[in-house]
Amino acid sequence: MNNTKPDFDAIVVGAGFAGMYMLYRLRARGMRVRVFETGTSVGGTWYWNRYPGARVDTETMFYSYQFSEELQQEWDWPERYPAQEDLAAYARHVADRFELWPDIQFETRVEATAWDDDANLWTVETDDGARLTASFCIMATGCLSAVNYPEIEGLDDFAGETYHTAHWPDGGADFTGKRVAVIGTGSSGVQSIPVIAAQAGHLHVFQRTANYVMPAHNRPMAPDEVAEIKANYSALRAKAKRSFSGNYFPVAGPSALAVSEEERNREYEVRWAMGGLAIMATYADFQTSDAANETASEFIRNKIRAIVKNPEVAELLAPKQLFLCKRLCVGTDYFETYNRDNVTLVDISDTEIDRITPEGVLVDGEFYPVDVLVLATGFDAVTGALKRIDIRGVNGLTLRDKWADGPKTYLGLSISGFPNMFTITGPGSPSVLTNMIPSIEQHVEWISGCIEHMRKHELGRIEAEVTAETDWVNHVNDIGDKTLRATCQSWYFGSNIPGKPRVILPYAGGFPAYAKKCDMVADGGYSGFSLR
Ligand code: NAP
Repeated sequence: MNNTKPDFDAIVVGAGFAGMYMLYRLRARGMRVRVFETGTSVGGTWYWNRYPGARVDTETMFYSYQFSEELQQEWDWPERYPAQEDLAAYARHVADRFELWPDIQFETRVEATAWDDDANLWTVETDDGARLTASFCIMATGCLSAVNYPEIEGLDDFAGETYHTAHWPDGGADFTGKRVAVIGTGSSGVQSIPVIAAQAGHLHVFQRTANYVMPAHNRPMAPDEVAEIKANYSALRAKAKRSFSGNYFPVAGPSALAVSEEERNREYEVRWAMGGLAIMATYADFQTSDAANETASEFIRNKIRAIVKNPEVAELLAPKQLFLCKRLCVGTDYFETYNRDNVTLVDISDTEIDRITPEGVLVDGEFYPVDVLVLATGFDAVTGALKRIDIRGVNGLTLRDKWADGPKTYLGLSISGFPNMFTITGPGSPSVLTNMIPSIEQHVEWISGCIEHMRKHELGRIEAEVTAETDWVNHVNDIGDKTLRATCQSWYFGSNIPGKPRVILPYAGGFPAYAKKCDMVADGGYSGFSLR
């Protein structure tokens, strides 16, 4: 090993909520850190996803950092589900408060990283031609950041304006009086469709799969509610961490089938009135029993039938797959929007879009002329952002090759063959099945604790062992295959991307079990890792 001094102790890729906190923690340990970020400001997903109607669908008093008591006490969220602008403002406030700006280089994309086994260093190449070295490379690239532009014939020839929800222009888009097409009815489509419909001359929604959508019932935060949460913040946060998803949702009982239909529906009505994601936790067997799951599925379908006036449209909007197989959506006036005269639902569940022409969309021989095309087609989730970087580990092994049949990681934190690299909320960690910010914090704290341990013991290299990684991957897949999530096509399994291996991407065993495992690994002197 030679003793080349690296340019930085750590390079962090991405200045979203993961990258910002990672920078804060490492710098607090006296490390020299550089963060690279493609955007012009901090916030990651809340920087890019500026589509109309974009707002978080997790209660923001809990979808926020908890590492600083001062921060969580001083910040006031305006609404139960704040809009993208408020989340972006919060990210900028964090960067101001903790003086993160000087260590973040914006408008810079990391294109490649390569491990030098002799020097124990990563070389990181950016799109401005720079090559910088660091002892550690930490990927804070996000789970839902690699935009999925669908492969639809003729898309590039469209003569009107085209927007993707996850890459929305800063100045917004004006739909006034225009003929608009939205392709995609996941969370981004569900949030944007009512807002676009209110402005457009006519909106056509092209729906491949209908989704379950709970009403948000968004509202301003009441001062007494805020005061109560703030007075009990640490206890409430601790309670949330003990729950499966890292969100505190009250559980009504172990099984939907153990209570009468009347009692069950009363409980579902309570959750519908509550709004948001809380219905997910009503009964503990939603992921293990088709019959239990079907009770909630049918409850929501009946709500759709009651809201949507045209029974044929209502049936098209009623999801066929089980509730919670795909990600539950939260919306405002989503189903009501289909009662508007200027909105038409186009079912493409059996017939793909034939092609996009310069003037519109052609489906099954029928032509829909449009001025604006909105792609709400989601992401190459969890692995996409990592695989889009040319990452080369020991002996030039590429991450793309290593993951050709699906991601392989130890704890979603580390990859054998890629020493001194950490992935924040990487594949095989609970990430997108949990409240993301607490999950990010758990990872950042684990990584900084690990680096601290290495520095204390004068260790220069850490790498996941192949056997530990294989055991973890098998465990992740076993649990994933047993959940009802495996019964439909979803981005959780990579099914939305043509050619992507069908493998569960997040760990579906819950936040508490996962965090316990990570603690055990650390307490055991980083068992499953080789350190030297
Ligand atoms: P998504 O859930 O993957 O939805 C994409 C939509 O586009 C789906 O309806 C999909 O149909 C459709 N689609 C994709 N390719 C298509 C094609 N070639 N032709 C026709 N339709 C196509 O993406 P998303 O809505 O951006 O949401 C992704 C995730 O981001 C969410 O699940 C959530 O975790 C997160 N998110 C959160 C919030 C929030 O907190 N408020 C907001 C937005 C997103 P299929 O279902 O048939 O594939």
